[in-house]
Amino acid sequence: MTDWSSAGFETRAIHAGQEPDPRTGAVVPPVYQVSTYAQDGVGGLREGYEYSRSGNPTRHALEECLASLEHGARGLAFASGLAAEDTLLRAVTKPGDHAIIGNDAYGGTYRLFARVAAPWGLEHTPVDLTDLDAVRAAVRPGVTRIVWAETPTNPLLTVVDIAALAEIAHESGAILVVDNTFASPYLQQPLLLGADVVVHSTTKYLGGHSDVIGGGLVVSDGELGEQLAYHQNAMGSVPGPWDSWLVLRGIKTLGVRMDRHCANARDIVDVLTRHSRVVEVLYPGLPGHRGYDVAQRQMRNFGGMVSFRVAGGVDAAVDLCGRTRVFTLGESLGGVESLIEHPGRMTHASAAGSPLEVPDDLVRLSVGIESSADLVADLEEALE
Ligand SMILES: *Cc1c(COP(=O)(O)O)cnc(C)c1O
Repeated sequence: MTDWSSAGFETRAIHAGQEPDPRTGAVVPPVYQVSTYAQDGVGGLREGYEYSRSGNPTRHALEECLASLEHGARGLAFASGLAAEDTLLRAVTKPGDHAIIGNDAYGGTYRLFARVAAPWGLEHTPVDLTDLDAVRAAVRPGVTRIVWAETPTNPLLTVVDIAALAEIAHESGAILVVDNTFASPYLQQPLLLGADVVVHSTTKYLGGHSDVIGGGLVVSDGELGEQLAYHQNAMGSVPGPWDSWLVLRGIKTLGVRMDRHCANARDIVDVLTRHSRVVEVLYPGLPGHRGYDVAQRQMRNFGGMVSFRVAGGVDAAVDLCGRTRVFTLGESLGGVESLIEHPGRMTHASAAGSPLEVPDDLVRLSVGIESSADLVADLEEALE
């Protein structure tokens, strides 16, 4: 196995965990569509594989690649982002523990904490993670096990200071978990900033083609990695080999796709900020954005997600979402095709009435990698 740890991002994306197949020389890891493995005598495993819930070569290729991209000691792949989150919570918390989550966390993450983990016994407090004093005040030393951050957040694109949060978490014996789905490891590597665990919905930028659901965890500590691997097998929410292969294939082009996502988003932000029907544009790359300075420090570029508030309130926002032609109306994000959605009624409907409710005139764009001029023209027409 070649050591790719000092290679550049794109080289690791294409080669880490993906040596040519030793038997055939196949340059891409084959889809090992198999559940069990022949043993040479009882317990005589050939390459350590005995059953595909515990381990599968295609999944392992993805897991090694994820670890390499995030500069972690161990990567683990899951059937979805939420499966990864659930496994993590079971592995590192127990009933009676406490967690701090961002007050604009991804709706599904909030639902997991509020409706699944809370009845099981894990308490949580939603906090504005940009307010470090508020985070310090919410931490219960010895009881708070997790500080859970997203940056940039969904859908308000709030940026939080990963290094500062890591320090606060570690001071009181908690770990910092960063959901890095929006930035992707190309734009931001939380483990290098002090985070303990990175969470991914590989459904989004890593997969990149809106054709697979998947999740991942990457950790800097090998022992924690072992514990998570134990839970991965014990809880069983693993991705199949074909889904693992699709994510791995998406990852190979992550760098070039992210460059184009960012460039197209910038063109759209330029148009929206000047538009008379747009009340406010939320994008971490705008110097007026609250998180601009931190984003400049901890990100390579500002990403492909853009949110904005439309003049005329909820009706105007909902109407706009139905008028675009290149932007497809739909949930999810991070694919090559551009998507538009109304968070209040779609992705974040489950947060209605909670502290995580989003403004109802908000529209969220996942800017794809189509021709920028077509995207801009589409939005301008829809806004007329
Ligand atoms: C989509 C998403 C998730 C959940 O991932 P699934 O693959 O849909 O289970 C978690 N966090 C963020 C930020 C997401 O966008």
